[in-house]
Amino acid sequence: MLVMKFGGSSVADAERIRTVTGIVKAQLQRKPVLVLSAMGDTTDHLLEAAGEALSGKKVSVQKIQDLHAKTIQDLELKASVQAEITPLLKELESLLEGISLIRELTGRTKDYLVSFGERLSVRIVAAYFRARRIKAQAVDAWDAGFVSDSNFTQAELLKESWDLIPQALLPLLDEGVLPVVTGFIARDRNGSITTLGRGGSDLSATIIAASCGAEEAQVWKDVDGILSADPRIVKKARPVEIVSYEEAAELAYFGAQVLHPWAMQPCQKTGTPVLVKNTFNPSAPGTRVVAALNKKTSPVRLITSKKNVTLVDIVSTRMLGQYGFLEEVFAAFARHAISVDMVATSEVSVSLTLDAAHDLDGLKKDLGQIAAVEIKTGKAIVTIIGDVRRSSEILSRTFRTCELLGVTVQMVSQGASKVNISFIVDNTEAAELVRALHADFFDPSLGRGTS
Ligand code: ASP
Ligand code: MG
Repeated sequence: MLVMKFGGSSVADAERIRTVTGIVKAQLQRKPVLVLSAMGDTTDHLLEAAGEALSGKKVSVQKIQDLHAKTIQDLELKASVQAEITPLLKELESLLEGISLIRELTGRTKDYLVSFGERLSVRIVAAYFRARRIKAQAVDAWDAGFVSDSNFTQAELLKESWDLIPQALLPLLDEGVLPVVTGFIARDRNGSITTLGRGGSDLSATIIAASCGAEEAQVWKDVDGILSADPRIVKKARPVEIVSYEEAAELAYFGAQVLHPWAMQPCQKTGTPVLVKNTFNPSAPGTRVVAALNKKTSPVRLITSKKNVTLVDIVSTRMLGQYGFLEEVFAAFARHAISVDMVATSEVSVSLTLDAAHDLDGLKKDLGQIAAVEIKTGKAIVTIIGDVRRSSEILSRTFRTCELLGVTVQMVSQGASKVNISFIVDNTEAAELVRALHADFFDPSLGRGTS
C-alpha cells in the first residue's frame, strides 16, 4: 500500500482536484490511502471567522461556503454530495454564533472549528472519485484510528493510534476502497476534536504510512521538493534529491517550511521512505527522505539563512572553574521568557543568539550581576544542513569561502542533531555568503563567488 497526502493548495479548487484525481489514478494499483488538507486557505479563513465572531461582529461563513459550493458545482457533484456538506456548514455557522455570543474561544473550540476544513474537503474529493467510478470513501480521522492527548491546537497522537489506524484502514483497502482521510485532526479519549498543529496533515500521512507498513508516504505540495537554498537569494537553488530523516526534520525548523517538524518521526521509526512531490509538476523527481545516505552524496544538502538575530556575549566576572555559571545564565533567560537559538561556550564565556524581537534591558541588568554582557544586533545566522560526519570538509571549505569574501565569522555552532553547522555573520554579509557557499558546494565547476 501507499499513502498520498495532498496539501491545501493541491486541492484548492475544482481544477486542482481534477489534477489530483489524475495523479492518484495513475497509482491506483498500489492501493493508496489519501490524506487531505482543507481546501486552499480554508483553515486561515476559519480562524479569521472565529476572530470576527469573538469581536462580536456578525458571523459570516460566506467565503468558506462560496469556495466549497463553487467547487461542488464545477465538479458537477451537487446531487451526490450536497446532502453531506450542508449539515456541516450549518453546524459550523451555529458554532460561530456560539462563539460570538459567549465571546470566548478556547483551544478546544478552536480545534472543533478548524476541523470543518478537512471534513469538508475529504467529502468533496471522495465524491468526485466516485463520480469517476473509483470506489472512494471519506473517512474522518476518528474513524481512522487517530487518538490524541487533549493538548488542544498542538495535540500529540497516543501510542494506541499505531494499532487502531491499520485496524481501521487496512480492511477498507482489502475491500478495494480508496480511503480519503482528513489530515490534521484527531480526537482525544473524551471524544473532543483536537488538531496536530498547523501543517499537521503531513504527520497524519506519515503515521498512517508507518503504522500500516506502507511502501512509501508521498507528500504532494506546490513546490518541486525541498530546495537547496531560498530561490530568492540563490537563483540556481535546486530541489534536493535525497535527504535523511534527521536532515529533513532539521530543515523544517530552519525556515524551509516544506514539512511539519514532527512529520518524520513515525516514518523514521519504521524506515518508511517519504517522497515530497509537486502536484503542479508531477514528473519532477521531488525529494526522497530516507534513513541512510550513500557516501557519494555531496556533504551539504542545503544552505539557509535567517536575518535580524541578536548576539549576546556573556563573559563571567567570576573565577575560572566556578560551577553553576551556565545555570545562572540560563535561569536569567528563563525568568525573562526569552528563548535562545544558538549557543557556544568556553570556560568563562557564553555566546548565544536570540530573535531580534525581545526587549533585553531587564535581562542585561540581571546578567550584569554575574558577568560582563555585550549585546550585538543586526546579525544573521547562516546554517548548513549536511552530513556532519564530514564536518571538517564542510568547515574548511566554508572558512575558505569566508576568507575569500572578507567575511568575519563571529560565532560557530555545530548542532547536537549532527546535521547542522551554523555561523553568525553581519546581516549585510549573509546573502552573498549563502550564494558563494551554494556555488562552492553545488556548482564547484563554476568557480567561487558566482551562482
Ligand atoms: N489545514 C491545516 C493547516 O492549514 C493542516 C494542513 O494543511 O496540514 O495548517
Ligand atoms: Mg492548509
